[in-house]
Amino acid sequence: MIRKKMYIDGEWVESRSGRTSQSLNPCDGTPIAEVPEGNREDARAAIAAARRAFDHDGWPQTPAAERGALLFKLAMLIERDKEELAELETLDTGKTLEESRWDMDDIAGIFRYYAGLADKDGGEVIESPVPDTTSMVVREPVGVCGQISPWNYPLLQASWKMAPALAAGCTIVMKPSEITPLTTIKITELAEEAGYSRGVVNLVLGPGSAVGDELASSHDVDLISFTGGIVTGKKIIQAASSNVKKIALELGGKNPNIIFADADFDLAVDYALNGVFFHAGQICSAGARLMVEDAIYDDFVAALKARIEKIVVGKWTDEKTQMGPVISAEHLTKVEEYVEIAREEGARLLVGGKRPDDPELEGGYFFMPTLFTDCVHDMRIVQEEVFGPVITVERFSSEEEAVRLANDTVYGLSAGFWTRDTDRIHRVSRALRFGTVWVNDFNVYFVQAPWGGYKQSGMGRELGHIGLEEYTEVKHIYQNH
Ligand code: NAD
Repeated sequence: MIRKKMYIDGEWVESRSGRTSQSLNPCDGTPIAEVPEGNREDARAAIAAARRAFDHDGWPQTPAAERGALLFKLAMLIERDKEELAELETLDTGKTLEESRWDMDDIAGIFRYYAGLADKDGGEVIESPVPDTTSMVVREPVGVCGQISPWNYPLLQASWKMAPALAAGCTIVMKPSEITPLTTIKITELAEEAGYSRGVVNLVLGPGSAVGDELASSHDVDLISFTGGIVTGKKIIQAASSNVKKIALELGGKNPNIIFADADFDLAVDYALNGVFFHAGQICSAGARLMVEDAIYDDFVAALKARIEKIVVGKWTDEKTQMGPVISAEHLTKVEEYVEIAREEGARLLVGGKRPDDPELEGGYFFMPTLFTDCVHDMRIVQEEVFGPVITVERFSSEEEAVRLANDTVYGLSAGFWTRDTDRIHRVSRALRFGTVWVNDFNVYFVQAPWGGYKQSGMGRELGHIGLEEYTEVKHIYQNH
């Protein structure tokens, strides 16, 4: 069993609570690691260390080029330990090793990107309307940042926060999901090896209701960055109001994938599957809501059915596996409940809808890839985020109808559509009210482009230049000669 500690003020420590918690292997439910179960006091100690490093120990005054160099070093260490990181991620989440390796490549790239950006924004001199005066606009680090991440992409989501915050000159207290702490612990070890000074990087493990809430409500935290569900996001907004701290929220999604009749049929089928069954559908941008134009509806559904029936569900240790388990027993129950709701609402179950029969998979949190057709847009199964391997199909008969139905949701994270009509591409990509719109593709993201949601899918943006700006305050300096 892996045993690890948490990292507060440059020391690896147990929790002041004296308690520990175990993470379980989603493939069979057995314990794989034991870590401290932090509490509010631990969170307060970490915040105090981050505060001191920011206010008194000179971290924000470190030359930006030096901050960039440290991030480059961290990127190199991630590359060096990529295989170990991928294995830890797979152990914790149950996703295939291949998927975890892709994540680690992305993560090293994220650190390199922000390493390069760290010293590129020198501010600007603006034209003052008052003669013989100077006006400058500069960006300064926000301060102490609480960073709360989810379990589906544990290290990827943590890196989207960690790299830009450190590039900007902030100090951080990270809180990974209690279900998947291992890779965030490992990257903290790498940050220590890279040479971050005491208090700049802190890691507190433990439940969101204690550690997470302390970070969100503390008067000594200047910014809270959160990725997770909408319900928790709303709690964060309330807690953060205590000192009007800055808030960055990446919340859930129920993402439409619209297939027009003139689409490249085979490619659209491929991506409709990848868009939702990748990582067992536990992706905030999963294309779980498929919308297919009348003229090709029956053929498309038939092609989907044939392909879904061939998806191999299993443990990552088996080379044939294409889709692993969901994250926990609790989450498996939630997916099952949604399948029941869909049936009651009148959706037609075409494939899956149950746990696998394979006795080898007993004890693990496996669920078969599931296809519901005959769905209509106001069903709960269409409107709510299942976050599992469940796809719903709706029928539409015009472009106007497709856009109207796709937009009729409280979410606004991402959407995709498939067509060969260039005029339609321009019209529909502007008409969809989502933070990312993919045309003839799905689920593509990269560090250079911003990521975030319209409507209840969040506020603020991660990645890209804007992801760095989120960690800065803007100051106007006006000088009268
Ligand atoms: P969650 O909201 O249950 O938990 C996320 C994190 O918040 C965890 O670390 C948890 O411990 C913590 N937390 C829980 N209660 C808290 C509280 N009261 N105060 C502070 N922190 C608290 O979400 P999850 O189940 O871990 O993740 C799945 C959700 O994340 C899905 O809705 C998914 O769409 C979303 N997500 C969004 C993105 C994005 O980029 N928009 C990316 C990944 C996941």
